[in-house]
Amino acid sequence: MLKSTLDRIVRSHRNVTSSCSISSISSICGVPKEKVDCVVIGAGVVGLALARELALKGREVLVLDSAPTFGTSTSSRNSEVIHAGIYYPTHSLKAKFCVRGRDLLYKYCSQHNIPHKQIGKLIVATRSSEIPKLHNLMHRGIQNGVDGLVMMEGSEAMRMEPELACLKALLSPLSGIVDTHSLMLSLVGEAENHGTTFSYNTAVIGGHIQQNHLCLHVSETKTLENWNGKFPLQPEMILIPKLVVNSAGLSAPALAKRFDGLRTEHIPPSHLARGCYFTLSNTTICPFRHLIYPIPEDGGLGVHVTLDLNGQVKFGPDVEWIDGVDDVSSFLNKRWSQV
Ligand SMILES: Cc1cc2nc3c(=O)[nH]c(=O)nc-3n(C[C@H](O)[C@H](O)[C@H](O)COP(=O)(O)OP(=O)(O)OC[C@H]3O[C@@H](n4cnc5c(N)ncnc54)[C@H](O)[C@@H]3O)c2cc1C
Repeated sequence: MLKSTLDRIVRSHRNVTSSCSISSISSICGVPKEKVDCVVIGAGVVGLALARELALKGREVLVLDSAPTFGTSTSSRNSEVIHAGIYYPTHSLKAKFCVRGRDLLYKYCSQHNIPHKQIGKLIVATRSSEIPKLHNLMHRGIQNGVDGLVMMEGSEAMRMEPELACLKALLSPLSGIVDTHSLMLSLVGEAENHGTTFSYNTAVIGGHIQQNHLCLHVSETKTLENWNGKFPLQPEMILIPKLVVNSAGLSAPALAKRFDGLRTEHIPPSHLARGCYFTLSNTTICPFRHLIYPIPEDGGLGVHVTLDLNGQVKFGPDVEWIDGVDDVSSFLNKRWSQV
């Protein structure tokens, strides 16, 4: 099945003969190998945006995802907030990308009729000890190039949001919400229209570096379901792309560790936390009009109030630090898709 799918994808490319010059891969001699242009691992919002961009630039793109469809992991389990760019350290890439990405995202959503709304956000101080932190956030936001930030007295903020209790609030008018599924669907559509091929239920199980190329070991997801981690995994196919994007989300570092020959100093450590959202039920009237956030806490933005485009109110996520997940579930994203 995987072989026939990928054969179809790469039929324009000639088969590569197996050379097995690296001793560590001698056990995978005989596995079919194919040369391809670009492989994007993971069809979350990051992989989809990259696949679309590469396809628009005329590259041949193959997207592999171990799940049965796109966007089943973090990209469909988040607050769906378009962040203004306040929080990240000034001059960091995150700060620059967040501000530029916000503008590009609003533009993309408008041009492609993706449901979104610039509803604004209030970051609130509920204790006097938090007020200096709120001023620091405002200062950082201004340095990051976030326009329109306004510091408000609690009374003013509570007039805007009568269900709120706070001492001071920072209004960020550029923050908003987006329908992430529509966004991802649009990226998939554009990528496909420009020749990108999606292969779902297809897991990258590792790889090796040979002659300056990262060779990807690929298997059908279902053949891995009963794997207990006790014997080496055998790939069903090896892909040899000119360009690899590892956008496997939370699994990306664990997967990178399985690329034989990749220097470990290039692999960032994982710090994992689990979080839950709580839905406000038994009310038809939405009590808030803005997103409402506390002062950020260690490891997250704090339990915040988010509204979706249907007016549904969610509180969350809380943060529970976890030691880690075992290698098997982490690199196949099993744990996350079951949460
Ligand atoms: C609780 C929470 C709230 C958040 N809220 C916001 C927010 O409001 N606004 C915001 O901008 N960001 C938010 N984020 C961050 C945002 O959701 C993520 O940055 C983004 O979704 C990451 O997308 P991704 O494509 O990198 O990863 P993912 O969406 O996790 O996609 C990775 C994909 O890779 C696939 N995959 C994994 N391993 C393999 C493998 N070995 N082979 C093949 N495929 C594989 C998976 O099946 C998955 O589809 C939030 C994050 C969290 C956790």
